[in-house]
Amino acid sequence: MRRIFAAFAYEDVPRKGCWWDKTCEMPPTEVLEGSRRVQVAIIGGGFTGVSAALYLATAGASVAVLEAQDFGWGASGRNGGFCCLGGGMAEDAELDARFGRGERIAFRQAEKSAVLFVENLIRRYRLDVDRHSQGETELAHRPKDMKTLQARAARIFENYGVEPQIIEKSDLEDQGMKGGPFFGALTVPLGFGLNPRKYLAGLVKAARSAGAQLFRRSPVTGMTRRDGLHHLTGPSGTVIAEHVIVATNGYSSEDLPDWLAGRYMPGQSTVLVTRPLSKADLEAQGWTTDQMCYDTRHLLHYFRLMPDGRFLFGMRGALLTGPRAEAAARRKVRQDFESLFPRWAHIESPNSWSGMVSLARKKLPFVGEIPGLKGVWAAMCYHGNGVAMGSYAGRLAADLALGRETGECPSVMRAPLARFPLGRARRALMPPLYAQLMLADRV
Ligand SMILES: Cc1cc2nc3c(=O)[nH]c(=O)nc-3n(C[C@H](O)[C@H](O)[C@H](O)COP(=O)(O)OP(=O)(O)OC[C@H]3O[C@@H](n4cnc5c(N)ncnc54)[C@H](O)[C@@H]3O)c2cc1C
Repeated sequence: MRRIFAAFAYEDVPRKGCWWDKTCEMPPTEVLEGSRRVQVAIIGGGFTGVSAALYLATAGASVAVLEAQDFGWGASGRNGGFCCLGGGMAEDAELDARFGRGERIAFRQAEKSAVLFVENLIRRYRLDVDRHSQGETELAHRPKDMKTLQARAARIFENYGVEPQIIEKSDLEDQGMKGGPFFGALTVPLGFGLNPRKYLAGLVKAARSAGAQLFRRSPVTGMTRRDGLHHLTGPSGTVIAEHVIVATNGYSSEDLPDWLAGRYMPGQSTVLVTRPLSKADLEAQGWTTDQMCYDTRHLLHYFRLMPDGRFLFGMRGALLTGPRAEAAARRKVRQDFESLFPRWAHIESPNSWSGMVSLARKKLPFVGEIPGLKGVWAAMCYHGNGVAMGSYAGRLAADLALGRETGECPSVMRAPLARFPLGRARRALMPPLYAQLMLADRV
């Protein structure tokens, strides 16, 4: 596996301290031994891979998931738990120019379908995921950002068919959002917060019950095609399949398959979780809502008060990787937490961790067949919003592998990933971009 961050980013240290690990066990899975023949083999045991496996097994297909570490070891087991709209970063005007208004709306509707898809899975499999929040709220971090939010609100109905709510600064107190340094907000009534590990554990259990074979500690180290079949090899076994779904997102490799080289940009995000806050703590800060929120910065902060009283706060992570960069990222998330919520500066945050998301050059997620590799599909690049979109993209990729053209996968998501400039050195593009965004967030 050729990867573009140093080995540290793919080891256990960045995820050490992840709060979710303490909240539930992953159902037991085996290590692959020997050879198996299935219809569909899936690389990666996060939301994308496991959702695809559940869908395929339920449809009667034979399916195996190969996960290099443990299920949920990647971003799916260590994210902020915002089950929300999103998946791409391209603005409406950009989508209209590239694909036309109709395709833009189809993509926005897919974002909504992704949230409803997760909601249905939770209901169907009776998953206990500590759900809360009525949609999601974006908070203006500068007075002038209220104009941006008003412009966004005007497009919400067209895109998602729901009515948003603009909250003026003077009304933030009524919403339990008085204490933050914000100038108003926009709430979109779609999405909710969840415990991502409990959600994934529920999917793993359901996929196993439906007949999917799930293998942990089973990295795929080679992929070849012989006699029309794909052979996925690892240290202790091989899976032979008619179709392969690559579901490795931010933990992808340049050579699995080779086509991916240069076509995804892993980026880090860092999160902290406080000790449970008391009623007095909440009132002291003036923040009592359990609404999941983020701010209007390009390099945004995301935060939510969870049902157990703990507060989760996250932001972009380090550009570099290694023990020093990781420690600095954790210091920075703590510093920003204290600056946005100063009355909680004394509140301990015993848990913090980092993980990898994935960006695409054209700022859109991809679900489709890998050009030149018949029967190999990929679903990835959710731009830090993959709880809902990753789950849904896994299902969409599964449909494609089954040969079902349901028309549900918008053409916006079918456009193959374009290459970034600079190949393996493409991470050099990020520092100037972050500097530019930081400046735009300040002025
Ligand atoms: C700190 C953080 C906070 C986030 N917060 C949110 C949020 O609040 N809301 C939201 O919507 N999104 C959030 N995200 C993004 C979201 O978590 C991801 O988009 C989503 O989990 C991607 O799921 P996935 O299954 O595609 O990939 P992952 O969950 O990353 O899984 C990929 C898996 O592939 C495995 N793998 C890689 N190579 C191989 C191989 N060769 N063989 C076998 N296995 C392999 C890895 O071990 C890994 O487990 C966050 C991400 C991070 C890191």
